[in-house]
Order: sequence, then C-alpha cells, then structure tokens
Amino acid sequence: SIEVKNLIKNFHNTEVLKNITFQIEEEEMTAFLGPSGSGKTTLLRIIAGLEQPSAGEIYIGGERVDHLPPQRRGIGFVFQNYALFKHMTVFDNIAFGLKIRKRKNEIIGCKVFELLEKMALQGLENRYPHQLSGGQQQRVALARALASEPKLLLLDEPFAAVDAKLRKELRQWIVKLHEEMKLTSIFVTHDQQEALEVADRVAVFNQGKLEHFGTPREIYHRPATPFVASFVGDVN
Ligand code: ATP
Repeated sequence: SIEVKNLIKNFHNTEVLKNITFQIEEEEMTAFLGPSGSGKTTLLRIIAGLEQPSAGEIYIGGERVDHLPPQRRGIGFVFQNYALFKHMTVFDNIAFGLKIRKRKNEIIGCKVFELLEKMALQGLENRYPHQLSGGQQQRVALARALASEPKLLLLDEPFAAVDAKLRKELRQWIVKLHEEMKLTSIFVTHDQQEALEVADRVAVFNQGKLEHFGTPREIYHRPATPFVASFVGDVN
C-alpha cells in the first residue's frame, strides 16, 4: 500500500502540489490523470524520491519513506528521461539494480532469465538497446524496474512515446503483468480514456489540487467537481 498525507510542494513561490492526501491499496493500479502542468509528474517524482516535498508524509508498505533515498524505498520506476543504458546489453540493463545490491551472479542470472521470459524477450539478452524495437525497449525498461521486486511500480507516461498500436499492446502488457506479479502501481497519463479503461483507481489533478480520487466508475458517473466532469466528460 502507499499513503500520501498532506503533501505540499512549492517551486519558488508557487504551490504546485496543494495538500495532497490519498491511499492506494495493495495490488491496485492507479492512474494520475490531469492536464499538462497539473502536478502529476512532480508528485510521482516525489514518491520516487527524486524530488523532496516541501511538507507532508509518504508511507510505502506502512513504512515512512519520505526521508529515504530512492534506492531504499522499495520502488521500481520507468521514467522517460531514465532511458536504458545504451552501452549495456539487455542482460546488463536488467541486472543493473541487482548488481548494485551485490546479489550473487547465479541469483542474478536466474532472475534476469525469468524476467526475459515474462516479458517475451528471450534470445535478446545480448543485444544493445539500439538493436531493439520501441516496444522491446519499453519492456526491457519494465524488466529492469521489476528486477529488484519492488513493492510499488511507478510509470511516467509509459505509453506516450509510442504509436497507437504499440500503445495498446503495452497497456495490455502492463495489465497482464499486474495480475501475474500482484503489483501495486501508479502511472501518469493525460489521456482520460486510458486512465478510465486501465486503472482500478484514478486520481484527477488540476492546478496542483487532487480534485477526485475514485474508481473509474465513480469518476465518470459522479464527478466530485465541475472540473472533473468536464475533463472526464471529453471521453467519447
Ligand atoms: P505534464 O503532463 O505536462 O508533464 P504535469 O501534470 O506532470 O504536466 P508537472 O510537470 O508536475 O505537471 O508540473 C507542475 C507544475 O510545476 C508546472 O507548473 C511546472 O511548471 C512546475 N515545475 C515542475 N518542475 C519544476 C521545477 N523543477 N522548477 C520549477 N517549477 C517546476
């Protein structure tokens, strides 16, 4: 589970996150939805530990983590600006986090091959990122994030940089993984339809405020504010 309590973020004199509070249960997939500039990515980066909150508390699996560095928070993340390591093979990319944690080579090998199979990447372990398709690269990034068995998986616009067909494929992939690996995850999107179709819960942000946190059904049928109604109402 993850709990965010009274979280505030100021950049200079602007409050970009305004007293955010919510809780996500185990094995749920949550979408952070909102227009550009509403604060979604900043909140994800704060949960990941890549950015410090100005105030508030964050708990992951019951443990307070907001003072811990990213690598001690039990999270895996796929951020767009944290691409694959270009000079490393697929195997080494996926093994990276395990090597840092000084796991035994045998254990690393087992884990990497298990993930290669899960992600349908068998046989590609010796390739370099530029020798892979966009979808394969995305799946390697996911495998790398999952290698250290995180309690929470964070995905920043995971479907943004790919074409419509691949987008759908990756979406289905993540849903399947979710069920298989019993993941708890958060993904950022500005696509209403994507959020409503894929997520168990949706958090709707506008200008730094969490306007509604609920199931897709609640958000669609009983929007908490006029903003939520108009933003989600755009789905056709
Ligand atoms: P997008 O969908 O465009 O990525 P977003 O909802 O993820 O938008 P954020 O990137 O979290 O929004 O930005 C929220 C606000 O915080 C914006 O007004 C942005 O300009 C501001 N902001 C983000 N990072 C910084 C920073 N490092 N310094 C100053 N302001 C920032």
